[in-house]
Amino acid sequence: TVDCSFKVVKDPLGKTSILVVQRDISDRKALERIKDEFISVVSHELRTPLTSIHGSIKLLATGQLGDLSDDGQQMLDIADQNTDRLVRLVSDVLDLQRIESGQAKISKHLCDAADLMTHATDAMRSMAYHHQVTLKSTPLLTMVWANPDYMVQTLTNLISNAIKFSQPGGTVELAAELRIEERRAKDSSSPPESHDTPFPITIKHTELWFQVIDQGQGIPADKLESVFERFQQVDASDAREKGGTGLGLAICRKIVEQHGGKIWAESVLGQGSCFFVALPMSCWLVEKAEVS
Ligand code: ADP
Repeated sequence: TVDCSFKVVKDPLGKTSILVVQRDISDRKALERIKDEFISVVSHELRTPLTSIHGSIKLLATGQLGDLSDDGQQMLDIADQNTDRLVRLVSDVLDLQRIESGQAKISKHLCDAADLMTHATDAMRSMAYHHQVTLKSTPLLTMVWANPDYMVQTLTNLISNAIKFSQPGGTVELAAELRIEERRAKDSSSPPESHDTPFPITIKHTELWFQVIDQGQGIPADKLESVFERFQQVDASDAREKGGTGLGLAICRKIVEQHGGKIWAESVLGQGSCFFVALPMSCWLVEKAEVS
């Protein structure tokens, strides 16, 4: 496998040449494949014994096998929380690896954006008993080209973070709006005959923006990009205290990228954060421009 890049260089006499840099990246690709396979095999192998440990702990916790002392119960709670975390970690690692390697099939179809939002908020109700999760959607009936399962997973991940990183009693809002952006406008002051269309037109590119807004602790400006990298957390103790894996946003980013979209965050420390997911719509609005 060869990676090729081109550069235009000018020598001191002003002569222009094209520099072609070719690098053999076969070794790197092979190494990446081995790493992917290793992660996948280890995670699969971990999953079976973990499920069994998890089940045994849950059974012990029900008291069906006899009562435990207070200390025993406390130990069991710690083991329970940690196996929960390990199960999440293994499943997140496998998820990310499957999406990255293209093994996960993210097939897309036309879905109603309002349905995606309702499913995501419904899925979060059980976690959100101390928070108010509100829905604010575009009044338009908006059909978007997406994989509903993966899109709902992305939105629930963002809502779950919004709940995790804000105080009880806080409000989390899921909103959606249609954004129309002018990509190319033909100069309407020139005569129509000069264009390759019978009349001057404006092409407007449409995107659907989902927003998950919270009133939580916020994210420092220098971490707004890195939180989307795997295992990056604002505070290392978040993994322990909040039970996170540091993989949720990396998974969201991969899913959104597979949809040809963008994900980013804005935040004010101590006041809250807003996570945006922009999905391209499969339509352009072509308008006939006014000719004065
Ligand atoms: P996890 O939540 O499992 O730690 P994520 O990849 O979902 O991992 O998030 C990475 C980090 O980004 C979190 O640990 C947290 O520090 C920060 N973060 C994510 N969402 C929010 C939010 N809504 N408010 C504040 N910090 C957040």
